[in-house]
Amino acid sequence: MNNSTSAQSASESGKKDRKSAGFNPPAAAARAARYEPLFPADAGLYPRIQGLEEAVKAAEKCRQCTPPAPCILSCPLHINIPAALKSIQQNEIEKAASIFRARNPFAEVCGRLCTQNLVCQKACNQVCGDNGPPINLLEEYVSYKQRESGQQNIEPGSPLNCSIAVVGSGPAGLACTYTLVRSGFDVTVYEKMPLPGGMLRYGIPEYKIPPGWIENYTESLQEAGVTFKTGISVGSEMPVDDLFKQGFSAIFIASGCNVDNIPDIPGVDLPGVCLASDFIARARIKPQLLPQELQLKPPLGIRIIVLGGGNTAMDCLRAAFHIGSAEVTCIFEKNKEAMTGSSRMRMEAKEAGARFRYMTKPIQFIPDPQGNVSAVECLHCELGSADKNGLRESVPIPGSNFLLRADTIVLAMGVHPDPTIGNTTPGLETHAGGLIIVDPETRNTSRTRIFAGGDAVRGPDLVVSAVADGISAAHAIKRSLISST
Ligand code: SF4
Repeated sequence: MNNSTSAQSASESGKKDRKSAGFNPPAAAARAARYEPLFPADAGLYPRIQGLEEAVKAAEKCRQCTPPAPCILSCPLHINIPAALKSIQQNEIEKAASIFRARNPFAEVCGRLCTQNLVCQKACNQVCGDNGPPINLLEEYVSYKQRESGQQNIEPGSPLNCSIAVVGSGPAGLACTYTLVRSGFDVTVYEKMPLPGGMLRYGIPEYKIPPGWIENYTESLQEAGVTFKTGISVGSEMPVDDLFKQGFSAIFIASGCNVDNIPDIPGVDLPGVCLASDFIARARIKPQLLPQELQLKPPLGIRIIVLGGGNTAMDCLRAAFHIGSAEVTCIFEKNKEAMTGSSRMRMEAKEAGARFRYMTKPIQFIPDPQGNVSAVECLHCELGSADKNGLRESVPIPGSNFLLRADTIVLAMGVHPDPTIGNTTPGLETHAGGLIIVDPETRNTSRTRIFAGGDAVRGPDLVVSAVADGISAAHAIKRSLISST
């Protein structure tokens, strides 16, 4: 391990900063109390497991497949799912939770968010059809119960006197931090937003993850000795290489992929036209805890139009109801079949009351006399000829113009990576779109002792994949530092 004085100084300065910031996390019992009620407001839209009897009954659907079980193979973290479900069958909830958490520090978050129909549940369904155990619900239930009981302190490893900087505090950054601190590293996490949590805190609506869950994670890490430096944008305000000058022995970049695409529509700069990421952050976070530029935006309105057809658009539609909007409409240029994302999320948005207008092309945003957006002008579309994939294009119908009134218009038209870190870090290779290039085995970038993972490498992907990247990068960092001594 690196025993340099500079590493020590980074470690010591981290401790000093923590003290000077007056860090004082609530006691474990107070944190555990945040886990009441089990599920917030619209639990009815999620048939979540509510009690032990239900959990045992659901776990009994597991057939304990002959190893290697398909669910283990398809899980990015290779969690021993059959062992966990067997423990539930035997009423051993704590043991089941420990099996999930042994490989996934964010088990309840992944249980709640993970699109298992793309990973373990898909593999299980190929064995059991529709009668398989609901893996995500069971993972969420047992890990929630474990967290609720307050048994989730993070034990730091024996000190290695070696400091690592983690850039970004979303799932990849926090998973890497968790693994490093348990190995004995001093870890400082840099986050550009005012609070740690990255996309878990700012990019996912509250109805999916209660804010207390994120706070419990970050406070447990702080209690284990991790320093969070928030409101600092590494890459623009501070070059990555400055972190080495401060004494960090290695850097893990997990800056995400969260720059919203902005359509080329006249009026897109009008006050009241809002990016999806800003909208979700404003719907979720108290105004005083938002970055200042968001605090200054005009209030969100009663009539909200969301442009886009993916999962983020569906999140925005539901978040709009949560902030009290009365009229929520999704505009999509193509037909329903061309919508990307989860059909379940679409159904849930519809059940919440959202209206959908397909084959509708926005052509300009119209201001009111005060200059704020008040409407979107659209054209109806019709199906045209098929492309090489057989998909029929959407063709605007000339003269079919009409207006839709709106107080707030949300642009949910995809994201791209922020190229800043790639542009400001000499020798750091990126793809043309800005995603960081890594060795898939070691997660090492083209620069020695700079590692990267999560959406900054993959583009938008599953939370569980980001967690897997963070954990494997932590192990790679440890291996590389051991081999360099
Ligand atoms: S694939 Fe399904 S049935 Fe088989 S062990 Fe995994 S969870 Fe159980």
